[in-house]
Amino acid sequence: MDAESLLAGLNEPQRTAVTSTDGPLVVLAGAGSGKTRVLTRRIAYRIASDQTDPRRVLALTFTRKAAGELRDRLRSLGLRDDVVAGTFHGIALTQLRQRWNERGIEPPQILDRKVSFVARLMSSSRGVDPLDVVSELEWARARLVDGSTYAEAAKAAGRTPPIEPAAMGDLMERFAQEKRRRRLVDFDDLLALAIRDIRADPDYAAAVRWRHRHLYVDEFQDVNPLQFELLSAWRGNTPDLFVVGDPNQAIYGWNGADPGLLARFASREPGATVIDLRDNYRSSPQILTLARAALGTSKGLEPHRGDGPVPDIRSFPDDAAEAAGIVDAIRHAHSVTRQWRHQAVLVRTNAQLAVLEQALSGAGIPAKVKGGAGPLGTPEVKTELRALTQPGRDLQIMLAQLDEAIEGDEGEQLTQAEIERRSNLGALSRLVHEYLSVDPEPTGPGLNAWIGTLKGGEVSADGDAVELATFHGAKGLEWPIVHIAGVEQGLVPIGYAKTGGQLEEEKRLLYVAITRAEQELHLTWAAERTFGNKTVRRQPSPYLGDLQSAIDHLRAGRRPMDWKAQVDQGRKALRRPKAIEAEMDDPIFIALRAWRRSRAKAADVPAYVIFNDSTLRAVAAAKPKNRAQLGRLPGIGPVKLERYAEELLDVISEAS
Ligand code: ATP
Ligand code: MG
Repeated sequence: MDAESLLAGLNEPQRTAVTSTDGPLVVLAGAGSGKTRVLTRRIAYRIASDQTDPRRVLALTFTRKAAGELRDRLRSLGLRDDVVAGTFHGIALTQLRQRWNERGIEPPQILDRKVSFVARLMSSSRGVDPLDVVSELEWARARLVDGSTYAEAAKAAGRTPPIEPAAMGDLMERFAQEKRRRRLVDFDDLLALAIRDIRADPDYAAAVRWRHRHLYVDEFQDVNPLQFELLSAWRGNTPDLFVVGDPNQAIYGWNGADPGLLARFASREPGATVIDLRDNYRSSPQILTLARAALGTSKGLEPHRGDGPVPDIRSFPDDAAEAAGIVDAIRHAHSVTRQWRHQAVLVRTNAQLAVLEQALSGAGIPAKVKGGAGPLGTPEVKTELRALTQPGRDLQIMLAQLDEAIEGDEGEQLTQAEIERRSNLGALSRLVHEYLSVDPEPTGPGLNAWIGTLKGGEVSADGDAVELATFHGAKGLEWPIVHIAGVEQGLVPIGYAKTGGQLEEEKRLLYVAITRAEQELHLTWAAERTFGNKTVRRQPSPYLGDLQSAIDHLRAGRRPMDWKAQVDQGRKALRRPKAIEAEMDDPIFIALRAWRRSRAKAADVPAYVIFNDSTLRAVAAAKPKNRAQLGRLPGIGPVKLERYAEELLDVISEAS
């Protein structure tokens, strides 16, 4: 492509970001403002205008999936594989391999069974989950903290270490020694070794810096101090560095990322230019209204897309009904121009993916998990599956033991890693139960074969499939229609998020999920959810309140974006007794509540299981005349519609 055509379809600040010859440059802007577009265009533009040799470009990001996305976008701009786009770990490993090779050094082995390795080192700390210890080790490493500084650093960062801080520091040292002794390196060691080599050998440093002399980093809000050190080592003192990021999408703090590195970038770099992008090109104004509501801000990007439908929130009696509801919605939206791959279902945890994947493939809809194998790919499930699929085992007994282990003891306090581990195993347990119900003569190998048919088998040849991803895995991506499932207390925010900082990160995660949508956004939650064989009552996410207010605001036909004034006003009105009195005087609302009372009594369930107050309030206000109108109201999912539509419409017409 020629340089000029690479500037087409860019607004003024975007164009500046692409063409500026100053450096370093940092683009700080919100979701969907074109940061990744600008980054890839700049690479292409500078190559096309002969300012850059493509073989000297290094584009960095944090996950392999995001690196794949970067490569795709570069390819679509006509760049072949000359430009290196990868993750920090991937590039570090390539460099180290080359160097080991040149110097005739036998490469160390990569430690891939870190959890069991660490478990052996912590024999004295019984009852502590090694996964928790490993995540703490990784956090410390990411923050450049070693055994001797751990206790102090953990305290300053407000961590809750899985074992005594002093013991943790000690374990860190033993972990490092044991790895050295056995010539093993883990992923973080790769970064540290790459840094050490560059620092230790000026000639080598010069060669590395010459090889990658034009540096680009996407999603810079997720950089951790260890990666930042490596970036600085690669960079030397060249100003040719271009980074983009959005502080509102910082979602890896728990992993040691430090969004402050983005915030402080400009002040640390005397010559840096900061570019701000203010327009959003991804999402409809309606979706952006909800994005603002999720962050609780009235400010945000200017929408550039046309109007779209008002997003909706639907509740379902349980997770199976929720999955079925999403399947229906996906099928309904599918058309000649709207392919499967134009829709995505996003969830907070890996463990939720299995039910959805099964529901979709059970309905004959091709689906694939984005960026990972879901719970089936996790180490705990793989280990368990290996045991279950051995020939000659009694599956019934093993499954009962698994279920018992998942259920645990009454009143048990679970750690973060244990909650995840158990819900992943719960997904496996559900699959095995299902297998037992379909195969009259169940065997281990039979189970193995059956699970094999579930994985990816449904994806059609052209790869047209609904995408399933976690909020983390969806970062940087976009789809015309997005379904967000499981918007419940305990998932959004995740149950183990307790501190203010953790809860803020959970809010940003929801913001990331919402801002993936271009035209349609559907949120759902279930009143009951099954983990393993344990069914738990659920409450809607506390964040749904503000989202619902924003939806009400949009439904009332008000201008998108001004949602906050409306919400504040709504909150005031709620506090005013008069408003409540007026509601209590509304004959339809009173009739609806009476109906709900008798309904709940007959079914022997609490009233809110039938409908909650805000749903009844919405019904009373809208006075729907038919099923279709009723079905559009918040809180009325297809299941409830099926069950109660007739009765509700009767009550309304009698009370009007
Ligand atoms: P995120 O923070 O979610 O990673 P981003 O800032 O990287 O978002 P992009 O993915 O680069 O945003 O852009 C969002 C969408 O808007 C893309 O489909 C992109 O092609 C489109 N887009 C960006 N800038 C423009 C523009 N000036 N004109 C038209 N479309 C644009
Ligand atoms: Mg991006």
